[in-house]
Amino acid sequence: MKSYDQHYYDGAWQPSSGTATIDVISSATEAVVGRVPRGSIEDVDRAVKAARCGFESWSRVPLEERAQWLEKLAAAMKPRVPEVAEAISHEVGTALSYATKVQVEFPVTMIAMNARFIRGAKLEEELGNSLVVKEPIGVVGCITPWNYPLHQAVCKIAPALAAGCTVVLKPAELAPLSVFMLAEAAHEIGLPAGVLNIVSGEGRVVGEALVGHPDVDMVSFTGSVQAGRRVASLAGDGIKKVCLELGGKSAFLVLDDAPFDKAIPAGVNNCMQNSGQTCSAWTRMLVPRSRHDEAVALATAQLAKLTLGDPFDAATRLGPLASSRQRDTVLGYIEQGRKEGATLVAGGGRPAGLPTGYFVEPTIFANVAPGMVIAQEEIFGPVLSIIPYGSEADGVRIANDSIYGLAGGVWSATRERALAVARQMRTGQVDINGGRFNVLAPFGGYKKSGFGRELGPLALEEFFQLKSIQQ
Ligand code: NAD
Repeated sequence: MKSYDQHYYDGAWQPSSGTATIDVISSATEAVVGRVPRGSIEDVDRAVKAARCGFESWSRVPLEERAQWLEKLAAAMKPRVPEVAEAISHEVGTALSYATKVQVEFPVTMIAMNARFIRGAKLEEELGNSLVVKEPIGVVGCITPWNYPLHQAVCKIAPALAAGCTVVLKPAELAPLSVFMLAEAAHEIGLPAGVLNIVSGEGRVVGEALVGHPDVDMVSFTGSVQAGRRVASLAGDGIKKVCLELGGKSAFLVLDDAPFDKAIPAGVNNCMQNSGQTCSAWTRMLVPRSRHDEAVALATAQLAKLTLGDPFDAATRLGPLASSRQRDTVLGYIEQGRKEGATLVAGGGRPAGLPTGYFVEPTIFANVAPGMVIAQEEIFGPVLSIIPYGSEADGVRIANDSIYGLAGGVWSATRERALAVARQMRTGQVDINGGRFNVLAPFGGYKKSGFGRELGPLALEEFFQLKSIQQ
């Protein structure tokens, strides 16, 4: 049981203004495994004041020194990796081995990488008679979701701090523990007061107070379209910059000349990572109509290899979903797919033999029509829709027939053909022929997947504003 009864701001653990708390539930055992304060508007106000005060000095800390603080923070997180991974496996249901690598080791590395990015950043440029200077934007209010809780926090905190901004972050109610552990690490290294501030609580209370606070200069939000719309409108009222990393319904377009034995298993693995609770997951697999049945056979065979079970068991690839609500939403979509007439070829319900925990069988629907609800809405669970298409142009049209535009994939026998198709996809990321995830590449959405970019050196740009000095 990991219990925190205080928020973290102004360089110290601070009592909450009230006594209300949020229980953190294990998605595998359904037991309470943690507790954090349910903060209030008053807690937000205090934390923002600390961040505003901290900004005055942090923004003037020499760049090299800021880089060293990030490296110290990453080093202080390293011994905490097992503890953080365990907490996230409970909160989100992520299999422990995947949680260790992807949910924790990767973001810890990213903290240190931002030290390198800021050292390499060009902050001044002469244009004609002007000196154009990049300056930190100020206090950044950050709000994060539960599916990759440390990663999403670090995607905001590391570049913001590197750029010279200070941060107040509100973690998701379902998965707040890793961010508190990050605050412990920050405290241990003596990160200057007001630089990193954490207030936990509900989105409608703490989240909205943070977005609307007059002393918050910028908002960086990751979550659903619904909450993102509210956040953007509140930020708009305050005329403040907002970055939105929202949902997705990404398409994997398998071309007729692709090596199906490689492409289809890769597509299944991508869709099912973190039990489908991944914003960029390729949840729509588009295959040529003439090879549909071959794709279905390969996909179901691959799915059978992904063992569902206890996230703490080494053999497990897929754990439970994060909450009972998430499980019920996903089961509702599976029912919807059945009613719409898609062909259920694998999974389709709660698994036998796992009565405790929010488990849903990994599920594949075949013969899905592009207009079906299961092909249009973000399910955020282990559900793959296989959609047959006619010509290549038809495939591209279906891939782009989405309100979202976060990620996608294309696979062809040749790089040239895959690249030509990738250029036509209206999404922020496209992987061709199994191209690996690249931490240096900017990540973010087109359309209702949001705006603004995270990851890599370009993420720093979000946290600067430009000043032109004429000389
Ligand atoms: P959510 O929108 O319900 O919550 C996200 C965060 O916003 C939480 O901290 C929540 O408390 C807060 N929030 C909720 N209402 C708010 C309000 N009115 N004002 C301010 N804050 C508010 O989303 P979720 O269920 O936690 O996460 C799943 C969603 O996040 C999915 O749609 C997923 O695709 C998306 N996501 C996107 C990315 C990306 O990089 N694009 C990454 C991960 C998750």
